Amino acid sequence: MKKLKGTGASIGVAYAKAYILKTPEFNTSKKKITNVKSEVSKFENALSKTVSQLEKIKSIAAKKLGAEKAEIFDAHIQIATDPEIKNEVQQTIQEQKVCAEHVVASVFDKYHDTFAAMEDAYFKERAADVIDVKNRVLSNVLDVELPDILSIDKEVIIVAHDLTPSETALLNKQYVKGFITDIGGRTSHAAIMARTMEIPAVLGLKTVSETIKNGSYIAIDGKTGEVEIDPSNKKEWQERISKFQKNQIELKKYINLKTKTKDGKTVLLESNVGNPEDAKQALKYGSEGIGLFRSEFLYMGNDHWPTEDEQFEAYKEVLSTCKNQLVVIRTLDIGGDKKLSYFEFPQEMNPFLGYRAIRLCLDKPKIFKTQLRALGRASVYGKLAIMFPMIATIDEFKKAKQMALNCFKQLKKEGHKVSDDIQLGMMVEVPSAAILADQFAIHSDFFSIGTNDLNQYTFACDRMSKEVSYLYQPNNPSLLRLVASTINGGHSQKRWVGMCGEMAGDILSVPLLLGLGLDAFSMSATSIPQARKIINNLSSAECSKLAQKVLNLQTIDEVNKLVTKFLQSKKLL
Ligand code: PEP
Ligand code: MG
Repeated sequence: MKKLKGTGASIGVAYAKAYILKTPEFNTSKKKITNVKSEVSKFENALSKTVSQLEKIKSIAAKKLGAEKAEIFDAHIQIATDPEIKNEVQQTIQEQKVCAEHVVASVFDKYHDTFAAMEDAYFKERAADVIDVKNRVLSNVLDVELPDILSIDKEVIIVAHDLTPSETALLNKQYVKGFITDIGGRTSHAAIMARTMEIPAVLGLKTVSETIKNGSYIAIDGKTGEVEIDPSNKKEWQERISKFQKNQIELKKYINLKTKTKDGKTVLLESNVGNPEDAKQALKYGSEGIGLFRSEFLYMGNDHWPTEDEQFEAYKEVLSTCKNQLVVIRTLDIGGDKKLSYFEFPQEMNPFLGYRAIRLCLDKPKIFKTQLRALGRASVYGKLAIMFPMIATIDEFKKAKQMALNCFKQLKKEGHKVSDDIQLGMMVEVPSAAILADQFAIHSDFFSIGTNDLNQYTFACDRMSKEVSYLYQPNNPSLLRLVASTINGGHSQKRWVGMCGEMAGDILSVPLLLGLGLDAFSMSATSIPQARKIINNLSSAECSKLAQKVLNLQTIDEVNKLVTKFLQSKKLL
């Protein structure tokens, strides 16, 4: 038996035989050719075969995963039909008179390296798409078959160096009980798709694809990231699987219930989304509104600043999808780790403390106004709330609010309809705002606490750094006091206070947040049933007593111990 630990990327427990998925080794060594014309046409035929294969995979993926997720294959088709890549390969074959497979490998590798060297996580991960397309083109040039995932007809856990998006999309849930890989993290395509398909996955296991033998038994836990090879305690794993499955079935009961504590207090469980399609998915998990629409994804997925009309369409779609629910759209939160391919950020020593989010928007009124106008026009399609990210001072908030009001006035002058009920609020993710929340509340219609950044700024720890990740301590009493200050500050002016940082969906935080008086919890939609189960089985009075007690503790361990005991006593853990 051998134990490993990776990144838990998609929850679920599985025990099955390993199926090693290996892309064949292509022989791409440099060979001189004499018939240039036939070599070029060999490449062209392989490329068009690749495009039609990708079209087919895209339509299978659209049926299995929905149109939005299948869009990944548009990126692949784009790479396969990119005239620059095609020309470069054709020309090199002609000029150097070498075999197509060698040229394909070197040209695609060059593009891969360019993406891989980019700092932005999103673009970095596009490098995998280039390799995916390269392998497909090579398999067609060399007439070597790629592994046929569709032919798997026994229960397995797939083991691979990396799973490409096209491979992930073809997995059949009936037989593929989970997968593990050497590389990748929570934001890689494979991880995102695994979560959508609800297949357990553990990624980033370094060399697992080389060390596990085909057919040996493995057990994985996609939540904790645990992996066991040839486990000696099969029974224990089977118990874990049945406990997980039982829990999943039980949680389904909570999808259609209202969120209400045992003593009758109602709160909202909402979802964090990155696009309108996610909002549709969220409804399936019993989401009661959108607590955070991260509008920056509209900007990051583009090669230009999205126009007013482009943004209007996206906002209109999400508002229409959630017609009777509040939709909180956050204005552009770019900078820090989120970069744009078409905008050069200043070189700064500390980008997370620098030119980002509302700071950039106030400095670039044209960009900001385009977004505010799109939001104003979309507001008539549902219940809209707009929130400004990274607000540190009351002046910043007042400026942003005034710009929004001016835009709405101008739109009306131009004959557009704009709702009169748009709420204008702010994220509380900078300690200065949490401390002065009672004063901010005079101006802001609501607060949404962003604990991902609030934690980063409170503990002075870069949220991207592995070395200081031990300082991610949402349940530390110091952070809880800032949360309490924000909630009390908001309530002093009768404002509602929500939370959209990861903490809102954390089982060990939910009772405390409920006890501190949080009104709305926004999280990844798949966490909603679990959070509802907890809230509906607790009384807010009891939680309030617990919360007051932990505010006077000293460490996160003390807090977690107390909450664990509390939840265990209610049979909720
Ligand atoms: C946060 O900071 O908690 C938050 C929700 O925003 P983001 O993670 O997008 O910075
Ligand atoms: Mg943030």
